[in-house]
Amino acid sequence: MTGGQPATRLPTAWRRWLLLLVPLGLGVVMWQAAEVARVQALQDLHQDADNELRLSAAGLSGHLSRHDYLPQLLASREAVRRFLASPASQDPMPLNLLLDRFRAAADVSDIYLLDRHADTLAASNWHRPDTFIGQNYAFRSYYSDAIAGREGRFYGLGVQSLERGYYFSAPVWLDDTAPDATPDGVMVVKVLLDAVEASWADQDAELLITDADDIIFMASRPELRLASLHPLSGEERRALLDTRRYADEPLAHSGFEVIEPLGERSRLVSFADGPLAGERYLGLTRTLSEFGWEMHILKPMTPVVQAQWVSALLAGGLYGIVLLGGGIGWQRLRLRRERELFAERERRTLARARDELERNVERRTRDLVETNRRLSGEIEERRRAEEDLRQTRDELIQAAKLAVLGQLAAGINHELNQPLAAIRAYAENARAFLERQRPESVDQNLEQIVELTARMAEISAQLRQFSRKGDEALSAVSVTDCFEYALRLFQTRLQEADVRIERRFPETTVWVRADLVRLEQVLVNLIGNALQAMAGRPQPQLVLRVETPEDEVRLVVEDSGPGIPEAYLGRIFEPFFTTKSPGSGLGLGLSISSRIIDDLGGRLTASNRAEGGARFTISLPRERRPALTGARHDQESASHA
Ligand code: ADP
Repeated sequence: MTGGQPATRLPTAWRRWLLLLVPLGLGVVMWQAAEVARVQALQDLHQDADNELRLSAAGLSGHLSRHDYLPQLLASREAVRRFLASPASQDPMPLNLLLDRFRAAADVSDIYLLDRHADTLAASNWHRPDTFIGQNYAFRSYYSDAIAGREGRFYGLGVQSLERGYYFSAPVWLDDTAPDATPDGVMVVKVLLDAVEASWADQDAELLITDADDIIFMASRPELRLASLHPLSGEERRALLDTRRYADEPLAHSGFEVIEPLGERSRLVSFADGPLAGERYLGLTRTLSEFGWEMHILKPMTPVVQAQWVSALLAGGLYGIVLLGGGIGWQRLRLRRERELFAERERRTLARARDELERNVERRTRDLVETNRRLSGEIEERRRAEEDLRQTRDELIQAAKLAVLGQLAAGINHELNQPLAAIRAYAENARAFLERQRPESVDQNLEQIVELTARMAEISAQLRQFSRKGDEALSAVSVTDCFEYALRLFQTRLQEADVRIERRFPETTVWVRADLVRLEQVLVNLIGNALQAMAGRPQPQLVLRVETPEDEVRLVVEDSGPGIPEAYLGRIFEPFFTTKSPGSGLGLGLSISSRIIDDLGGRLTASNRAEGGARFTISLPRERRPALTGARHDQESASHA
């Protein structure tokens, strides 16, 4: 992952917006769904209300209209006209009975006959205590309309019964042939409205009938009857009382309120109090022009509200599901992209690492090739140098041998001259003894001569040995033997100088892997140096030791000379370093000796003895199994013999 946010994660600002937008979106979606549902449900409700209203209006209209003909029919009855011609002189009972029969047949409330002064002459309810007979109804419009020759219609509370009724009236003419004839009476039919209202109770809606003054004349709810839709002013109330249409009813306000007009004849309404309070209704209005009424239907808004809620919740749920789906999709997309990014990063890292590796390998290879080339050059150079060195060293060894030979020349001269002189003397003696015929003495002298020549041969062999170049193969060499061969070269000088030789050799033979001639050469060199150092010093002492610590063999040469000055200890192995006068030393002995020991895989070191004198130590690896010992040893013994 990269440090910080993965590339696919939403930035914080975005997330804050999302937190704000998601609930906002939910709100908008739910609100929109509710709104659509509301419109739809309202439309349905409107449709239902309209249908119901139309049916109810038709029902009411039919119910009333079917009695329309009745006053006219009765007005034209002979019995009625006859009675009206002379009411005072006739018994009204037959007419009362007739009217009652008609009432029962037509199923109306009351039928009654007024004279031209609006006094009731006969009535179907003649037998009731509150009978209309004797009452005057001049104040009623059904009277004034009919007496004017027209058919009359009226609705209102009955003066006697205080029941709401619808009145139909028709003029009664005794003779309607004269052109200016006026009616002689009025026939009135009263229809009660309760039955119609009762049928409304079954409906899932409230129905109201209001008059031109907004007074609720009929209502599915009895509590609302004879209340007003709008609060009446004092003037309106007075005017209404004057008509006596509603007797002395208080005509209180029903609590009706318009919440929102929806269309020309539809609106959202509620009631501040009364039985319909606490609910909202869709109110539709229809004009019943033949009665001068408005019919209202009030459908509860509950289905609309329910539809709104259901739609809002459904939409909310859907929104949630879509959002969840979107979220899951987004998460999956994000995860996939993160995986891809991760893989891409891994791929790039690997590619980078591989490139880096390749570059490193290339660089290293270049370095190696360069180093190799340099090393090859150096090896070649070294090989040449070593070749030069070996040659030089061999030549130097040769030169040193010659120098030692030179030094030995005097000794050898002495050694050879002495036996030569002796041989000569013994030979002359032998001749003399031969002349004197003394063969046994001749033999003695010849024996001496043989001995002396043998000794001379030994010296000669040593010289030959020394002049040889030591390029022999390495073999197991006995160190004590080697010491003895070297000492033999100095035999005369040692005796002359009266040097005491102390040999501290182990009991058993100690072997090293070496070139006998060259090791012997080193020992000769060391012993020679020791003799030179001790020359002229009292009680010269030469100590020769062989030590075998662990896998090493040490050959030690100590003398009782002056030792090596501290300042020279570090330099004596340098070639041509010498403290001796020219002719006495070349300064090559220790240098060559050191190289020889190095070649044999050992070390040559110098130090001073505590009791005075110098100590030279040759350290060599120990040879445990002298494989070719016998042959080699025999050969060497022969060469030294
Ligand atoms: P040279 O003997 O020709 O001088 P070497 O290399 O053999 O050359 O010796 C170098 C020097 O080491 C000598 O000149 C001498 O000063 C010192 N040296 C060697 N052996 C001894 C010894 N046994 N005691 C004191 N000094 C020595």
